[in-house]
Amino acid sequence: MEIGWIGTGIMGAPMARRLLRAGHRVRVFNRTPDKARALAADGATVVADAPGAARGAAAVFLMVPDTPDVESVIARIEPVLERGQLVIDMSTIAPEAERKIAARLAMAGVGYLDAPVSGGEQGAIDGTLTIMAGGDAAAFERARPLLEPLGRRITHMGPPGAGQTTKLANQIAVALALEAAAEALLFARESGLDPARVLEAIGAGAAGSWQLANLGPKIIARDYRPGFFIKLIRKDLRLVDEAARQNRLALPGLKLMASMFNTASALGHDLDGTQAVAAALDRMAVLK
Ligand code: NAP
Repeated sequence: MEIGWIGTGIMGAPMARRLLRAGHRVRVFNRTPDKARALAADGATVVADAPGAARGAAAVFLMVPDTPDVESVIARIEPVLERGQLVIDMSTIAPEAERKIAARLAMAGVGYLDAPVSGGEQGAIDGTLTIMAGGDAAAFERARPLLEPLGRRITHMGPPGAGQTTKLANQIAVALALEAAAEALLFARESGLDPARVLEAIGAGAAGSWQLANLGPKIIARDYRPGFFIKLIRKDLRLVDEAARQNRLALPGLKLMASMFNTASALGHDLDGTQAVAAALDRMAVLK
């Protein structure tokens, strides 16, 4: 299939690469051209603008950071979209914005799915992402063969926006599991234990989690290199907060984690991985 791919950052580049390996023809566009050029070696055609990626493609993928970024890309490609094309937004953004975009494109006969992911950079490289899709059931079935090279668990969650709402639920669980892992390891270290041994001892038991297994060793090593930026989880928790307010929901754990990640940001960790929340905890521990 002829595919357009817009946004080749940490996640977008390996995802586009998997579609190339699955045999699709992929035209890629990235705002900073160098990041897209790297995909030429894998067989991608690098184009100079977003409409160039979208024009005539059976499916157009977006993988950019935030709601205004998706809105601006959609505004740029809308004039070249034609009836029967499918647009799949895999960024994590506000559910409400997705509902509006889906409704507008539907009037032009263009299919639209919000299909955010979890599983991180490694999941994107390995094609093992969890994909949570919202949109028309027929559009989802058309998209499924294109999503299969990208993810292991691919679920249609319901109407437009349902994929994003599911992803936001995921982020609440992820943020609090990370805090649990970081606090447990800090407590172990400050109590005089070897945190690596504690991780080994408790990681396979009731305390086990993806966060503990994957980010625990990095927390112990104070390796804050990014898989998922602090600035992006702050964005996600802001989206959760907005959606929770709309539903008049109080989420105390969310408030705690928003302030933890804001502290990590204030300490200069916005472009580090989410495990750098441990640096904020370290600073608090010194104040004890
Ligand atoms: P990233 O590395 O910052 O990549 C974002 C890409 O979008 C970059 O190529 C960037 O271009 C482009 N972009 C930014 N603003 C744009 C705009 N206004 N118009 C056009 N292009 C724009 O981020 P990422 O980690 O790949 O994350 C992408 C999305 O996936 C986010 O919504 C994130 O929350 C979600 N996500 C990330 C992870 C993860 O582990 N990283 C996991 C699950 C979901 P430039 O190169 O010019 O900056």
